[in-house]
Order: sequence, then C-alpha cells, then structure tokens
Amino acid sequence: MIPRPVERRRTVSVAARIRRIGADPTARDAGLRPAEGRRGLAYDRATVMIVMQPGAQDSEVEAVRERLATTGVHVVVMPGELTTAIGAIGDPQGVVELGLEGMAGVDRVVPISRPYKLASSELSDNAASRFEIAGRTVGGGETFCLIAGPCTVESAEQTLTVAEAVRAGGASMLRGGAFKPRTSPFAFKGMGAAALEILAQAREETGLPIVTELLDASHAEAVGAVADVVQIGARNMQNYALLEVAGRLGKPVLLKRGLSSSLDELLMAADYVLKEGTEEVILCERGIRTFETATRFTLDLGAVPWLKLHTHLPVLVDPSHAAGDRRLVEPMSRAAAAIGADGIIVEVHQDPEHARCDGPQSLHATDFAGYAQGIAAHAGLLGKRLA
Ligand code: PEP
Ligand code: MN
Repeated sequence: MIPRPVERRRTVSVAARIRRIGADPTARDAGLRPAEGRRGLAYDRATVMIVMQPGAQDSEVEAVRERLATTGVHVVVMPGELTTAIGAIGDPQGVVELGLEGMAGVDRVVPISRPYKLASSELSDNAASRFEIAGRTVGGGETFCLIAGPCTVESAEQTLTVAEAVRAGGASMLRGGAFKPRTSPFAFKGMGAAALEILAQAREETGLPIVTELLDASHAEAVGAVADVVQIGARNMQNYALLEVAGRLGKPVLLKRGLSSSLDELLMAADYVLKEGTEEVILCERGIRTFETATRFTLDLGAVPWLKLHTHLPVLVDPSHAAGDRRLVEPMSRAAAAIGADGIIVEVHQDPEHARCDGPQSLHATDFAGYAQGIAAHAGLLGKRLA
C-alpha cells in the first residue's frame, strides 16, 4: 500500500510558499497548467517573486499587487512568518519593467528562472535548511552529519558489531542496505525484510537513527516503518514514481545523485520529492561516470559548493562508492568536509575481506574512530561539530 501524503506543516517555508503557486485554484483559472501531481509547481510559466521587507504594511502589499495586476500577470500573495512574498506568474519582462524595487515596503524582486523551484535557494536569502532527525541536526552549517555502517546488512552479528563500532567512534547515524541495487543485477540483493528487523534492533541497541534504501515501491511501508532517513539510490534518482512514494512516507529522504545525472537534474528530482509535502530532502554527491576509470566513479567535489549556492538543501558526500578503494576514502572525506559538505555517508565493515558487498571500499570498523576524529577536525575548521 502506498502511504498517504504527509501533513503540511504550520511554518511557512520558502518551499511551502512556492508550492502554493501551483496549489492556488485561481492560478489554474488563469490558465496555468500545474505540473503533474497535486501540488503542481507551475513549471510551464516564468515566475517572478517580489519579497517584501519584514514589517511591510498591508497597504504596501496591496499597492504592489495592484501595480502587478496592470501587466496582466497572475498574482499570488503569500504571507510568511517574517515577510510576505508576492508571486507574479507570466511575463517576467513586464514585471521587471515596472521597477517595483522603488515601491514602499519592497525588499527585492527575484526571478525564479531555474528549472527547479522548491529546492532553489533563490528565494531563501541563501538560508540553509536544517532538519532535526531523531535528535541529530542535518544542514544549517553548525553540524557535520557522519553516517556510517555496512554497505549491506549481512547478519545480525555483523550489523550490530559495526553499529557499535561506529557509535563508539562518534557516528551520527547508521547506514545499512536491506534491499540492494547492484552494479550487476545478478549480485546479492540484500536480506530484505529480515535486514530491516536487524536494523531496528541496531537502533535500539545503539540509539543511532537508521538510513536505509527504498528500492521498490512495494517495500515502502516496511522500509518507512524502520528508516529514520529513506535513501534513494543513484540508480533510482530519476525513478519518478519511486520519488513520489518516498516523498509521501513522512520521513526525510536522502537522494543520491545519478551516475550520469547533472546537478540540475538532481535538483529537479529533489523538487519532485518535495512537491509531495515533505520538506526534508538531503542531497548526496556519490561520484559520477567519466572517462576516468582509475577510481570507481569520479567524485565531483565541485558539486558541493555549487549546490550550496543553488539550493537550501543539505549536501552530503559518499566517498566510498566514488573511491571504490578504502585507501582513498579518508583523504576524499577530508576534502568533502573542507569544501563545505554537511556530512558524509561512509561504508564500514568489521571484516571487509569477507563482506558480501563493497568490501574493498569499506573502512575497517577498528579504524573508524581514528577516521571520525580526523574528519571531525576538518569539519571543525569550518565551525562544525559532529551531529
Ligand atoms: C549505497 O549507498 O548503498 C548505494 C548503493 O549507493 P549508490 O546508490 O550511490 O550506488
Ligand atoms: Mn555499497
């Protein structure tokens, strides 16, 4: 059964405001075709946002609305906690020519020109989103989220041993795949439902929140019942039906960049999750396919500061799948912390030589504490502490 959409929140975030453009029935009357799904994002028309100053008077908002109306654009007034934003949909040039910046109470005029909207930082004054996940803060610039654990749950003993090692080493969350997408479709696919029970036990014993992948919509209920963060793997980044299901689970979603996906495509996929009502999407750069074959994938570290400029969502780095070789994982992790990532998701195993999946890239559990200390020191240079 596919879960119902999560309830809207009371606080009016930037994403919620933009969403209203699509949800507004008068927008539909004005001939604006909502994108697919309930909360269409008016992707098919250009939008300009007029952001009012905090404390702007109702009369000033009304004056802007009236002036906009003279150009024939569709106007949506969106009061927020601190400021009111006014969306003007259609004819962006006409809106720019109105010179609204000079009107009383107007702070700025922002064209929303990107193909992604809910994920965009254009409206948020570059304020980073910050989520509380089972007591851990992700995003917001003060914490560094260190997610660690085995690639795959192989047995209770293996998972509990690794879970305890990463907890003791200072990890923020435990990762572990129950349902596995593999490079070869014929490789081990994970223990499935039995693995979810083991992950639940690991959370009980260590207190670590669980990050695990949703591979197929038919597993949604079972995965949603155990996961504190629902991972969407690289191979499913553009599986839009699955993204909708993930967005309705009421859990934060960790969205991994596709092997050959551009950053615009990653943010459009994030929009597709966000439109389902969740506000908690975490992005992950995990390496892309290039001509280079020396590393398993090419870690696109430039993606991190680029994403920080263009989205308010937290950005993690997965050095394990990018490297394919544990000897590269620590230096790549240090680089990720230094370049401003909000965290890392890293593979750890108590016996990597005998791991059923991704052993060569998994850190030894006994090395984890030293590794975590080094990463925490780099994150600390940017004023962040482990979440
Ligand atoms: C994983 O994190 O377990 C995984 C399979 O990663 P990716 O989807 O990035 O290949
Ligand atoms: Mn793996």
